[in-house]
Amino acid sequence: MEEKGQKQVKGIRISTVNIIMMLISCVLYVFLITATIRISDRYQDVHGSMDDYIAFEENESFLTEGSAYLTEQVRLYTVTLEPEYMEHYFTEVNVTRRRETALEHLEAYYGGDEAYEYLVEALRHSNDLMSDEIYAMRLISEARDCREDSLPEEVQAVSLEAEDRELSQEEMIQKARGIVFGDAYQEARSRILYNVERAMKSMHEMTHQKMLGNAEELKSGMAVQRRLISVLFVETIATFLLIILLIIKPLRIYVNCIKEEKMMEITGSYEFKYLALTYNDIFEIKNANEAMLRYRAEHDPLTGIVNRGGFEQLKNMFRVKGGALGLLIIDVDKFKLVNDGYGHEVGDQVLKKVAGFLKDEFRATDYPARIGGDEFAVILTGMTEEMGAVVMRKIGKINESLLHPDDGLPQVSLSVGGAFSEQGFTDDLYKMADAALYVVKENGRCGCRFYEEGMEL
Ligand code: GH3
Ligand code: MG
Repeated sequence: MEEKGQKQVKGIRISTVNIIMMLISCVLYVFLITATIRISDRYQDVHGSMDDYIAFEENESFLTEGSAYLTEQVRLYTVTLEPEYMEHYFTEVNVTRRRETALEHLEAYYGGDEAYEYLVEALRHSNDLMSDEIYAMRLISEARDCREDSLPEEVQAVSLEAEDRELSQEEMIQKARGIVFGDAYQEARSRILYNVERAMKSMHEMTHQKMLGNAEELKSGMAVQRRLISVLFVETIATFLLIILLIIKPLRIYVNCIKEEKMMEITGSYEFKYLALTYNDIFEIKNANEAMLRYRAEHDPLTGIVNRGGFEQLKNMFRVKGGALGLLIIDVDKFKLVNDGYGHEVGDQVLKKVAGFLKDEFRATDYPARIGGDEFAVILTGMTEEMGAVVMRKIGKINESLLHPDDGLPQVSLSVGGAFSEQGFTDDLYKMADAALYVVKENGRCGCRFYEEGMEL
């Protein structure tokens, strides 16, 4: 049966569809995860670029502020002549060191970059400026006649030029102011600011380029992600539709077939078609078995015609159906003698022969049955009393054949009682036919009579 099923069934296998859908989903999810990781990396890069830019700007501010602070303190010193400003100046130079610290911070990330190099250049200019500033402070210190050991060592290390030593105190102060407020000083400061500005521009350009690259990748990554999600959506819908088409729909059909005890429609997936074929094979065998059992229950195994049980069912059927019909009750005459004289097996052959004659002689619409040992009945459908003569002739013909056997079997004859009804099968009908049979038996057997008024029921 399995071979037959496997040969005949063609169709989409749920297991194959399942594996294909699973593989497609896995591939799509792997791509989706990869695209998402890429997007998140690019986002981190964008974020990182912005953080870097901010950090660079902060350090650049430190450098600018440090440099401006030095200028401010030296100028304040030359204007106010207060030594605290000189102290502030050298605290910035030696302790706070904003300019150097800023570059140290940046060197690890940007060492070698153009932006960093501009800041290095700015620091160099700032340091160059320091020599003028310290010289100016030296002039002020001289003018104020400060004690040498009270001066910072950077100032101590500077000695005034010969011509400056000749200057009066006021002239020294004026010269110092001229240095830190003069055009040359302003120009040098502009160079520092110019380099800082170039550094920021370069950094800006670098960040912009990085952002552009990342933004481009972000855009393409998101487009891929959108497409993958759309394909996944379609794939999910396709899976649902396939489940409906290949599983739910055939299941509904099959449940109905089972409920209605019908053969299953060969539909749906390979698995369901195979199930339907297997079910149909079993269904056919079961039906055939039931039919065989029914046949056995309703037929006589010796003669092959309807038995007592089948006859009872026919009676019930014609009781309900109604209409005109005739009933014959037939008994083999002196059948015991056949059995006694020729044996039981010969007796069986005779009974078979009688059944054969009844089947042959009556119409296909009539129902011959064996209702006892040597007793038969025939239900004659649509038969009325006027047709009694035809029946008599048929019985006469059968008796003639039985009395002149050409098959080596012993002679026998039949006694037949008949009756008619206009209202289908009734209890009276049976009694009347039986009464008629009794009359025949009483009057020498081998003959046929129909019930008449006055016969004893
Ligand atoms: P009558 O003319 O009064 O009917 O006489 P009879 O000898 O036929 O008497 P009855 O109808 O009462 O006898 C029926 C006999 O049929 C009794 C029994 O031994 C025999 N018989 C019943 N069933 C079978 C069967 O299946 N095979 C055979 N060979 N004989 C059977
Ligand atoms: Mg008999």
